[in-house]
Amino acid sequence: MPEPIIIGTVALDFIETPFGKVENALGGSACYASIAASFFSKPGIMSIIGKDFPNEHIEFLKSRQINIDGITTGEKTFKWQGFYEFDMNEAKTLKTELNSLESYSVAVPESYKDAKYVFLANIDPEQQLKVINTLNNPELIVMDTMNFWIDIKKEQLLETIKKAHILILNDGEARQLFGTPNLVKAARMALKLVSKAVIIKKGEHGALLFTDSKHFNAPGYPLENIKDPTGCGDCFGGAFTGFLTKTNDVSEENMRKAVIYGSVVASLNAEGFSIENLKKINIKDIEKRYNEFKELRDF
Ligand code: AMP
Repeated sequence: MPEPIIIGTVALDFIETPFGKVENALGGSACYASIAASFFSKPGIMSIIGKDFPNEHIEFLKSRQINIDGITTGEKTFKWQGFYEFDMNEAKTLKTELNSLESYSVAVPESYKDAKYVFLANIDPEQQLKVINTLNNPELIVMDTMNFWIDIKKEQLLETIKKAHILILNDGEARQLFGTPNLVKAARMALKLVSKAVIIKKGEHGALLFTDSKHFNAPGYPLENIKDPTGCGDCFGGAFTGFLTKTNDVSEENMRKAVIYGSVVASLNAEGFSIENLKKINIKDIEKRYNEFKELRDF
């Protein structure tokens, strides 16, 4: 059985950063998350593409042992256009073309229904909720979202969050969703909705893991060579959930390790455009950077 199972977008991205640009590049939250998870486990994805979606991308996902039984085909692929200025922590969206995502209703394959580990990557919260309600006995539901859905579907989003175990947000989204400038207060409010933990990502400045009784502060990796941070959040969530799936251990101690693996894969992703660098790296590169992260905090 594929695990973790992941719902999210499969997209064609148009990205511009101060260091270059790409058009029609493979992107989307489910793609980044599943590629990141595939370094640890054998994920399966649920999403929709269009007839215009290049087959080579499907072949690439399959070559990574990502199960694609949950991908359906509509008319036109979801497209996202964004850019970054020198502050690369925040993507500015120029255009979101939902296309077939607009009428998408997720169909969870039979072979996914017994999955214990689930990552609800960034997509319409109503579809995230449908996945939760279709599964037989999920043990760990990790959930991500973004400002787009907070703006237009806040109520549905809060309903879905209440059924998740771990919520992942970036700092701006946490402030927006909980209406407070203070991240500790936002985390406390989030912990009233989810049962296990809240992770607040702070872009290049690291990530905070909050549980009811503890707080872990993961450092940011001092990257000198950022090209394109697109997908870093999805890589974080995918690697985090992939590592927990592999180790089958959701203790606070192991979640700390998972946060570091999430940060490692995200930082490696930012060193190339689109999924370029994810295609090149392997588990040895990941372990090497994981050890560098340990040294960053040794005092
Ligand atoms: P991240 O940089 O981790 O926030 O994710 C970037 C990816 O999210 C890009 O590849 C986009 O295709 C995808 N994306 C952009 N807007 C949305 C949206 N509203 N819902 C889901 N995915 C999106």
